[in-house]
Amino acid sequence: MDSWNESCQACGAGNGPLTKFSLGKDFFGRPYDRLSPLSDQSPKWYCAPCSMHKNLQRDFRDIYDEFDKLRAGHISELAKGDEFRRASLRLQEILTMLSAPQQQSPFLSGYDVTLLMERLNTLTMPV
Ligand SMILES: [Zn+2]
Repeated sequence: MDSWNESCQACGAGNGPLTKFSLGKDFFGRPYDRLSPLSDQSPKWYCAPCSMHKNLQRDFRDIYDEFDKLRAGHISELAKGDEFRRASLRLQEILTMLSAPQQQSPFLSGYDVTLLMERLNTLTMPV
């Protein structure tokens, strides 16, 4: 069965088209390991605003993981200057979208994004 005839699995909206969300590639262009604990176990169906927010959450989560690795001294995508700048810009974009009226995300709070941005700013920008 390739359709979901009920309601959005995040906000419960029952009207409007639903989109099957699949993780695809992560923010850093790496394909998701389907067995990874980060990968969602079963496909989910979301309405349009929720799938947009799910994408924001995925990018946030990818950046957060790389930040953790960088902070712990492991190999991290954020050790590359370009990726670090791209990630900082993306966090700003995410925060802007979350701050718009009627854009409360069921997955992610603006507070978490602000916190990660502050923590990134305390790190030395790689060159
Ligand atoms: Zn929804």
